[in-house]
Amino acid sequence: MGQTLVSRLDRPCQTTLFWVILRHSKDPPVGRFGSMALPKRKHSNSRSGKRRSHNALKPKQLHACAKCGTMVVTHVICPNCGHYMGRTMVETA
Ligand SMILES: [Zn+2]
Repeated sequence: MGQTLVSRLDRPCQTTLFWVILRHSKDPPVGRFGSMALPKRKHSNSRSGKRRSHNALKPKQLHACAKCGTMVVTHVICPNCGHYMGRTMVETA
């Protein structure tokens, strides 16, 4: 016993410390509309992971240009020859 809440946390990071101090301070920060809304509990690492499970970036979808064969991003005019949707959209030198 005698341990503070902060010391019970293993490796408290800046964010955790901020949260703990905010949550357990005697006088919580008061804003224009009364006391600030504060989370009751710390988010678990699992919860953060679940939220971030949709954050991964997918690689750009490429296809070969029908005219010159250069790999081009889909639904974009070919930067090499200006070909798109079966015709030349941009005249290239
Ligand atoms: Zn092309």
